[in-house]
Order: sequence, then structure tokens, then C-alpha cells
Amino acid sequence: MNAVAELRVNSISHWIDGKLVDGTSGRTSDVYNPAIGAVSARVGLASTADVDAAVAAAKAAFPAWSETPPLRRARILFKFKELLDQNHDKLAEMITREHGKVFSDARGEVTRGVEVVEFACGIPNLLKSEFTDNIGGGIDNWNLRQPLGVVAGVTPFNFPVMVPMWMFPVAIACGNTFVLKPSERDPSPSLLLAELLKQAGLPDGVFNVVNGDKFAVDALLAHPDVEALSFVGSTPIAEYFYKEGTSHGKRVQALGGAKNHLLVMPDANLDQVVDALIGAAYGSAGERCMAISVAVTVGDIADKLVPRLAERASALKIRNGMDAEAEMGPLVTGAHRAKVEGYIARGQGEGATLVVDGRGHDVDGHENGFYVGGTLFDHVTPDMTIYKDEIFGPVLSVVRVKDLAEALALINAHEFGNGVSCYTSDGGVARVFSRQIKAGMVGINVPIPVPMAWHSFGGWKRSLFGDHHAYGEEGIRFYTRYKSIMQRWPDSIDKGAEFTMPVAK
Ligand code: NAD
Repeated sequence: MNAVAELRVNSISHWIDGKLVDGTSGRTSDVYNPAIGAVSARVGLASTADVDAAVAAAKAAFPAWSETPPLRRARILFKFKELLDQNHDKLAEMITREHGKVFSDARGEVTRGVEVVEFACGIPNLLKSEFTDNIGGGIDNWNLRQPLGVVAGVTPFNFPVMVPMWMFPVAIACGNTFVLKPSERDPSPSLLLAELLKQAGLPDGVFNVVNGDKFAVDALLAHPDVEALSFVGSTPIAEYFYKEGTSHGKRVQALGGAKNHLLVMPDANLDQVVDALIGAAYGSAGERCMAISVAVTVGDIADKLVPRLAERASALKIRNGMDAEAEMGPLVTGAHRAKVEGYIARGQGEGATLVVDGRGHDVDGHENGFYVGGTLFDHVTPDMTIYKDEIFGPVLSVVRVKDLAEALALINAHEFGNGVSCYTSDGGVARVFSRQIKAGMVGINVPIPVPMAWHSFGGWKRSLFGDHHAYGEEGIRFYTRYKSIMQRWPDSIDKGAEFTMPVAK
């Protein structure tokens, strides 16, 4: 095994200025293979000096990279996309081994990341500006979108490839240089992404990875050379990140947690609803910010729906995510499993009907893995903790309401507003729902309406702090500064000094 591979397997370090670099802090954190419940690696946790080194490398790379024509930046991204295609399965396997989600789902995650690269490859077109010829006498006016400088991204454990790729392809396409602080729970894929970017021809220092925890995040938030920061993670940290970053005068977007509802109208196609709920509630063991964790059922449709959900939730194939038959893998850590099981006990204690209990789920040959079975609650009410909190596990709650108006009021009153879905056969209901619902991403007969890369991703209410959604046109706006230029050539029009406000004539 060569030195680089050894570093990646046994001890995960940082990627600074185009190479793997050991940290200086001496602090590490365990990385698990959650399917077997064993430590697979130790990740170095960055010190302030490590963060300083990454930011310094990014700062040094910025002048040349920002002056590189967008077309040449795009060519590197095209090459990166080819390398991602060649390494698709390798990345997916890394995700499954550290996160636990099933391999086919991990492959899908990589695809959704690659799509953002495909979007960013259009950067020469995306940076085209608006020009007004002769806006005043002899004056032309146009605008530019210019890169910010060094920008940073802090990302969660649940999409270790896709979420970083919501950020850095767009940021570097716009001419910025980037420092990524991935989740310390599944850090390996980000180092492979760094290697592939280098192989694609990205100059050293344009993309850097510092692994770490709160210490590294705080160092980035306070760093005078970091211009803007993107965050994706839980709401309490997102809120902290936004407040802290903006208090240091930085541009910040911070995407937080969720509690996504799926509304089932009495005229919905029940077969489709069952499939949608089973996939969206239990896929990736519910560890998705767009997972559906609440089914809001109108009228008495729940009487037909709940038995069918119970049958399917009890029959889920829960295995090691590398097993080709697996539909659901383990949770990310033992601590997270304990938290999810604690919520199940709380729901029972608060009076919800526990229809399927996933606690104590064992998988043959994987007795130490962090598994929880699909869990289903009926008769959940809005005052219960399992309704209010984001559980982030395979737990689906059924809430019963009398009509569309009550459903809209319920969903709109929730603190989160990330994604939402409505299953109906009535176009009028769909239209009212999509217009009146207070959430950033709406699905009509689509359970998980994650926008494609050419649109933008983000929630409302306490699911997003800041003004910009991620990637798509919103990403271009976030990672660039708007500049307006007015131009007149005095040699051709000599007007002399002007003392009044210039106005078009
Ligand atoms: P998390 O908030 O615990 O961690 C996210 C990042 O913040 C990690 O890089 C972590 O190292 C860092 N961090 C953790 N504690 C910190 C602290 N005290 N100070 C500074 N930084 C800190 O989130 P997670 O458990 O990794 O991910 C799951 C959460 O992310 C869920 O709430 C989920 O809904 C959310 N999420 C949201 C979206 C979205 O687009 N809205 C997408 C994916 C995940």
C-alpha cells in the first residue's frame, strides 16, 4: 500500500495546497463503519494553524484562478465530471462504508452531485451580463458578477458527496477558491474529490479540505480572509453559524433541519402514496433533510393507509448497505441510534399509537451495527415531541386532519419549512396547496422534491438562515458580487464639468 492510500485508510488528514497534509492539533475523532459498528479510521481534527494554512493556500491561489477565463475553468470542470463518472462506484462505496446508506442510494447521491458539476460547466453562459447600449448620452451601462475571494463550506454527515458538491463546483466555477470542512463522521469522500479535482487540472490551493469539528468551524467563521460561508446541517448549528458569520461581516447561507410533511388527500392514488411514504420515510434510514417524517391524512383515508404502511414497514430489508438486496442500512453512529430510540419511547409515552416498533432490530452477522427498524406511529398530534422535533431516523408519524384547510394550517404552523408534498388527483387542490404552503420545495405527487441542479435548493422558516438557496442561479448569486459599470469616452464627447445629478437625455 502506498503512503497516500495508507493515510486515507488509517488516518484521515487534510488536503491543503494540492496535497495531503497531517494536522498539527494531535486531536482525532473516530470514524465508524456503522454496518458493523466498528471504528474504521481516525480523522484528524484541524487546529487554528491548519485552518490558517488552508485559507492562506486558497488566498494565494485566488488572483490567478479568478483571472482564468470562465471557459478554461469550465474545461477543468468537464474533465472533473469525466473523472467522477470513472470513480462513481468508488465514491458510492466510500459513502456506504462510513455513512451506512445502501450502495444504490449512495450511487444516486453521487449522481445528484455530478449534476451540479454539469450545471457549473455552463459557467461562461451563466456569467454573461446585461448590457444597455446608450443608457445616457454617450454612456453605456452593464453589470458584472465577480468572484468573492476565499469562500468556505461546512457540511453534514448525511450527504458527504452531494452536499459539498452543492457548493464547491459553483463557487470555483465563479472564480472563487474554496475551503471545505466536511462532517467528521464520514470525511473520506471529500479527500477523493480533492484528488480528482487535482487530476482534472485544478491549480493547487483552489480547493482545500480541512477536517475537524467546532474548533475548525469557528476558526473559519472568524477568519479575516474568508469572504463567505455556506453551511448545511442541523438548525441549532445553522442558526449559530449564520449569526456568528454575519457578526464577522461575512456573507452567509445556512441551511438547517426539517420536518417534511406529505399530505394525503382522499382522492389520492393509494398505491402511489404507500410507495412514496415507504421510500421517503425509510430511505437512507430517514437520515435525509428531505425525508418525509409526517403523513398528514385527510378524512378517514388513514384507516386504509396505516395497515398497508405497517405491512411494508415491517417487511423492509434492513441489511449492510453493501448488500445488493438491502433497502435500508444502519444509522450513522451508536449515539444517533440511541437518540432515535429515545424518541420512539417518548412518542409512546406521550400517547401516540406505536403501530410498528423498530427498536432492538438485529441484523444477522452484524450484531454490533447501528440498526433501527422502520417505525410507524398513528394518531400523532401537534403537541407531541415526535411531531415537533426532527428525529432524523426511520420514524414516520401519521397525523389525522379533517380537510385541506386544517392541513395547510398545521403544516404552515411548523417551525421548519424545507420540503413538502401533496398527493391528490385534483389540480385545483394541487394549485392551492403549492401557492399557500410555507415551504421552500414543493412536490405534487412527488415525495422528495429535491430541485435539479438548474433550479435551486433551500427551505423556508427555520430550515434556512440567509437570503440565498443553494446551487442553480441562486448559487451563482451567492458566490459572486454584483458590479455595475457605466462607461463614457471623454475623447469622443467633451461635456466639461457637470454639477447636477446626471440624468438620461
Ligand atoms: P450538524 O449540525 O451536527 O453538523 C453539521 C456540520 O456542523 C458538521 O460539519 C459539524 O462538524 C459542524 N458542527 C457540529 N456542531 C458544531 C458546533 N457546535 N459548532 C460549529 N460547527 C458544528 O448536522 P449533522 O448531524 O451532520 O447533519 C444532519 C442535519 O443536517 C439534520 O438536521 C438535517 O436536516 C440537516 N441537513 C439539512 C439539509 C438542508 O439542505 N436543509 C441537507 C442535509 C442535512
